[in-house]
Amino acid sequence: MTARQKQPVLGILGGGQLARMLALAAAPLGVNTLVVDSAADACAGQVAPLRLADWSDFAALEKFAAEVDVVTFDFENVPADTAHWLAERVAVFPNPRALAVAQDRLAEKTLFRECGLQTPAFEAVDTREGLDRALAKIDAPSILKTRRLGYDGKGQFRIKQLSDADAAWETLGANAHGLILEAFVPFKRELSVLAVRSRDGDFRVWPLTQNWHTDGVLSMSLAPAPEVGALQSRAEALARTLAEHLDYVGVFALELFVKDGELLGNEMAPRVHNSGHWTIEGAITSQFENHVRAVLGLPLGDTSASGFSAMFNWIGVLPDAAPVLRAIDGHWHDYGKQSRPGRKVGHATVCAQDAKTLAARVGEIARVLKREEQAAPALRALR
Ligand code: AMP
Repeated sequence: MTARQKQPVLGILGGGQLARMLALAAAPLGVNTLVVDSAADACAGQVAPLRLADWSDFAALEKFAAEVDVVTFDFENVPADTAHWLAERVAVFPNPRALAVAQDRLAEKTLFRECGLQTPAFEAVDTREGLDRALAKIDAPSILKTRRLGYDGKGQFRIKQLSDADAAWETLGANAHGLILEAFVPFKRELSVLAVRSRDGDFRVWPLTQNWHTDGVLSMSLAPAPEVGALQSRAEALARTLAEHLDYVGVFALELFVKDGELLGNEMAPRVHNSGHWTIEGAITSQFENHVRAVLGLPLGDTSASGFSAMFNWIGVLPDAAPVLRAIDGHWHDYGKQSRPGRKVGHATVCAQDAKTLAARVGEIARVLKREEQAAPALRALR
C-alpha cells in the first residue's frame, strides 16, 4: 500500500461568506483551507482555520505562503502589491494582473471594449473641472463612481440633473484613486454570467442569471434567466474572450445590463459571486466547487442547471429560517455574522423542476416571511 499524499492546502485571502462557502466546497475534494483576514470574527473562521493579518503584514503573509499550496481570493480589493508579492512565493489564481484590472472600473471598462463588450458611455474624472467636461459629453442622468474600492452601490453618486454636480463632487471628489462618470443606463434587465476557466484552459459557463438590486445591493436572483435566447451564447463568447485575454484561472462573474436586446458590461468580479450562490443546490457543480477545482488544477465539473432556482439575499438581519426549511427543495444559508444594516448575513435558495412550481414555492415563502416586495420582480419574470 502506498502512503496517502499530503492533502493540498488552499489559502484564501479574505474571510467572509465567500471564503466560508469555498472552504465548505473544498472539504469533500480532500482540500484543506487556510484563511487570512484582519478581523478575528471573520465568518469563514467558523469553518476553516483563520490567520489574523492585514494586507501589509508581510511577516504573517510569509508564514501563510509557506503553509499553503495555492492562494485565491474571497475579496478582490487585496492590494495589487500584496498579490504580486505572494505570487513570487506561491501559485496565485486568478493572477494578480486580472485582479488589478478588475479593481479599477476604468481599466475594466476599457478592457471590456477591447474584447468587444459594449459598456455605458464613460469618462475618467480627476478634478471638479474634469467632472464638468465629462458631464458635457455624457450629460445627466449619469452616475459618478469611485474607480476603486466601490462595491454593492458604495462609492457612487447618482447625478439626476446637471445641477447635482456640486453635491456629487462634495461626496466623492476627495477620493484619492480617481473617479469615473458613467451614463445611467435605463436597462430592461440585469443579467450576470458566471464562468470558470481551468489551469489548462478548459472554459465553462453556467446558464445566465437574472438579478434584481435594491439600493445597489443584490436582492434576488433567478436562474436560468428566462427567455435569454441568443444572449446566452453571446455572453459566453464575451466571457471566454475576457478570460483568455487575462489568462484567467478560476470563477468570475460579469455583471451585464440588457438594453435594446444588447449586452452592456457593468463590472467584472474576479471571484465567486453572490449571483452564483444558486449553483450550490441548483447546478450540477457549484461555482465554489469549480473554483476550487480550477485553482488546484483539477478537472472542471458540469455547469448545467439541474432545474430552476431562485435566491433571496438576506441583508441586515436574517428572517425566520423555518418557512425555507419547510419548503420542498428550500435551502438555508446562515453566514454566522452579526446583524448590521446593509450587511449580507445569509441567503436562501429555492429550487424546482419547472418555473410554475418554483413560482409557487417562492410566492409562499415570500408571503409567510412578508418579503412579497423582494420577491415580486422575480415572480413576474417567472410568469
Ligand atoms: P455596481 O456597484 O457598479 O455593480 O452597481 C450596483 C448597481 O447599481 C447595479 O447592479 C445597477 O443596478 C446599478 N447601476 C450601476 N451602474 C449603473 C448604470 N451605469 N446605469 C444604471 N444602473 C446602474
